[in-house]
Amino acid sequence: MIGYTVGTMKQCHVFRVAKGVDLAAALQSFVQEKGVRFGEIIAIGAVEKATIGYYHQASRRYETLTFEEDLEITSCLGNISLKDGQPFVHAHITLADRAGKMVGGHLMPGTIVFACEVIVHEFEGAAPVRTMDDETTLFLWQ
Ligand code: ZN
Repeated sequence: MIGYTVGTMKQCHVFRVAKGVDLAAALQSFVQEKGVRFGEIIAIGAVEKATIGYYHQASRRYETLTFEEDLEITSCLGNISLKDGQPFVHAHITLADRAGKMVGGHLMPGTIVFACEVIVHEFEGAAPVRTMDDETTLFLWQ
């Protein structure tokens, strides 16, 4: 087990992200403004366009995919921990098109909300801390 910590539920934040707003930026701004250092994020809704990432393990780089179409957010899940002493959101998103076909990946800037309902569960306890992991070259929990 790596990065183990224990938290208890502190409070639940519920809000909506406005149409036209970048989802990744909105989530990151929220946790910084509210000082949420440790928690989880759950969101559903729809986007006008999306950019998702795929971490190519061999090259150690994110590849991005952009979808210029209206999509449902069937699931957006994330966690909140600390990176460089600041609250940091890591989120993934799964999207469905008009035919119900799914795509998904790492939530990237460039995912623009049509409508989105967010629930943030804030935990009390020692927040996990992200540091560079040399094996994966990702910022992972210590
Ligand atoms: Zn990710």
